[in-house]
Parts: sequence; C-alpha cells; structure tokens
Amino acid sequence: MPELNYDIIIIGAGPAGATLARLLDSNSYRVLLLDGQPLRKAKPCGGLLAPDAQKALACFELTLPKSVLVSPQIFAVKTIDLGSGRIRYYPRSYVNLDREKFDRWFLGLVPDSVEILSANCLSVCRSAGGFSLKIRDAAGSEKALHSTYVVGADGANSLLRRSLFPKQKMDAYVSIQQWFKAGDRNPFYSCIFDPETSDSCSWSIHKDEYFIFGGAFAAHACREAFERQKEKLRAYGFHFGEVLRTEACQVLRPHGPGSFCLGADNAFLLGEAAGLISPSSLEGISSAILSATWLSQALNADPEHALAQYRHSSRGLRMKLWAKCAKRWFMYEPIPRSLIMASGLSSIDVIPSGTGE
Ligand SMILES: Cc1cc2nc3c(=O)[nH]c(=O)nc-3n(C[C@H](O)[C@H](O)[C@H](O)COP(=O)(O)OP(=O)(O)OC[C@H]3O[C@@H](n4cnc5c(N)ncnc54)[C@H](O)[C@@H]3O)c2cc1C
Repeated sequence: MPELNYDIIIIGAGPAGATLARLLDSNSYRVLLLDGQPLRKAKPCGGLLAPDAQKALACFELTLPKSVLVSPQIFAVKTIDLGSGRIRYYPRSYVNLDREKFDRWFLGLVPDSVEILSANCLSVCRSAGGFSLKIRDAAGSEKALHSTYVVGADGANSLLRRSLFPKQKMDAYVSIQQWFKAGDRNPFYSCIFDPETSDSCSWSIHKDEYFIFGGAFAAHACREAFERQKEKLRAYGFHFGEVLRTEACQVLRPHGPGSFCLGADNAFLLGEAAGLISPSSLEGISSAILSATWLSQALNADPEHALAQYRHSSRGLRMKLWAKCAKRWFMYEPIPRSLIMASGLSSIDVIPSGTGE
C-alpha cells in the first residue's frame, strides 16, 4: 500500500482537533484532519457551553449561529441529592446546544487548505522520520499514511494515547445517557447525586422535544447502577417513558498532575485525550479549545520546541483542573455536600408559579 505523506495528521475533529486545524499555519504545514465522527456512534454529551468555553470562543470573536442552539436556555441547575433528599437551585449561565450541530459548525470553520478525511484511524506507530497510520475511510477502504507530527485529539479513549503512551493510566467512568420524548412538564436542568449508585453525578436536560438523562458510573455494573438511579428518580417526579436512544462512552476523571499527558517526541495530545477535563463538572469543551490554541501557537512558532512551549502555555489550565479536584471533594463526598446544601450557600430560592408568594 503506498503511503500518503503529511507534515501533521490530527486524529479527531471534535472541538480540539477542529480548533488546531483552523489555526495551524497552512503555508508551513500540509495538514490532514481525520474526522471519525460520522463513522462512530454518537458521542454522549450534555451539550452545555459553560462560561469558560464561551470565553474561549469570545477570544476568537466567534459568535454562535442560532442553528446550533436548542430550547430551553437555562438559568439555574436544580441539584438533587438522593442521599439526603435535599433539593437546591444554583444560578448558572450555560448555553444549551445541539452538540452534534455545534461540532459540525465548528468543523466548518476549518479553512480549505486543510484536508479533511472522513475516516477512522485504526493504528498508529512510530516509524522512520515520524509516524505511520492505518485508516479506514467512509467507503470502507484502508489507507496507509505517514506524517512528521501526529496529534491525538481523539477524546477520552484516545487511540494515540493508548498506542504511544501505554504507561499513562487514566481514571475513567462509563457515561451512559438516554433520550426520551419530553413530557409537558416545566423543562429544567438538573444535577443529581446518589452515593448509593455512583460517586460521580448524573444530569437531566431538555433539548427541544427531547429529554435526556445521563450519568457517570464506575465501570463495574454501570448499567445496573444507571437503571437503579432512574428508578429512584421516579419518586422525584421524573417520567422517563419509552427509551429512544441509549449512548455510552468513557469520560475521564483527572485526580492530580499525573493525570495529564501532553505527548512526547513529535506526538501531541489535546483536549480530553490529554486528560484535560474538569473533574468536578465534566466540562471539557473549553479545555479542548484552549489546549489546541496553545499547541497551534507552539507549532507555528517553533516546531522543534513545540512541546516545551505547549507545556508552558497549558500549565495554568492544568493547575486549575488539579485545583478542581479539591472542589470535587466538597461536591461529591456525601457529608460535605450535605452540609453545603443544608447551609443554602450560593443557592437561590425558587418561587412556585401561580401561588402569589
Ligand atoms: C456524557 C458526557 C457529557 C458531557 N457534557 C459536557 C458538557 O455539557 N459541556 C462540556 O463542555 N463538556 C462536556 N463533556 C466533556 C466534553 O464532551 C469533552 O471533554 C470534549 O468534547 C472534549 O473535546 P475533544 O475535542 O478533546 O474530544 P471529543 O469531543 O471527544 O472529540 C474526539 C473526536 O475524535 C474522534 N475519534 C475518536 N477516535 C478516533 C479514531 N480512532 N479515528 C478518527 N477519529 C476518532 C471522535 O469521533 C470525535 O469526533 C461531557 C462528556 C461526557 C462523556
């Protein structure tokens, strides 16, 4: 099989890969972006654009088209602790998105100078002068590729990370999400804690005519834990109805500085592939955009020292995510969480409609 040659191959066209492809200097590099998304199962995601991600877009003067938004937009999260039975509302300013449409819009910003191939990367290894990749394209045919640099922007279960950095261990949950037809209740966004079934959290959110319920669970018996939690939520007014779609994937949970892996020797990792995701909220779009921005700047300036520069630029983000491990303790440990919720700290009172209160 003859090999096709590139300077840089980016595996994965999510927010991290699409940002890097958009920002690399096309006069200096021949870039290939492998977009595996259309060939893979839909990625489960809450589809909420948090303030950090809004700020990352603002830095590029990017504004969101109406076509990626879904209804309703939300101003508060209803936090339900199934352990203590407490419910509190906390103000939040997220943008509610159709995640698939957001990714497609973002990919549309990549300039024509970048080659985009709808293909799955099957393998990657080091070879003379760079890297050899085997891919399968949308038509099912396999191709061999070669590049000087390779970038894994391929998400939590990164093939590049597993192939080139097998010693890097990541803590991970299995995230399960189901879609239902929305009922006629007041749409709301909720965050659910249930110490009996998970030491992470679950969520529910409305997206146009759909209602989504999802959660992150330890891999062992994750499906049973998910179903058990659904059962318990019926007592809190949740009506699930017929399951329209079930999705599952890995989601990473960094626990300290050793949970991040940015790469080595001309192989780089970005976004969630690098472990860059909030351990407290599981928010990862902002880290994906920021890490890709810093790597593009490092590669455009000086490819020889790109890794050192990328490490330097991303230090603040890694420290911030590490610090969130402490926040995570207050959120996820039943006793501190119960005390915080009992105190009402930072919460808002919700006045029921039509009572005149
Ligand atoms: C259930 C769930 C809910 C979440 N909710 C939110 C949220 O509301 N807000 C938020 O900010 N973050 C959320 N996150 C986290 C967020 O989805 C990720 O951190 C973010 O998408 C990371 O972006 P990325 O570009 O690094 O990776 P991804 O978005 O995962 O993109 C990776 C891309 O690589 C492709 N790919 C993977 N392997 C290959 C391969 N072998 N060949 C070719 N292509 C490949 C995939 O198809 C995908 O398109 C959630 C995560 C989960 C699991």
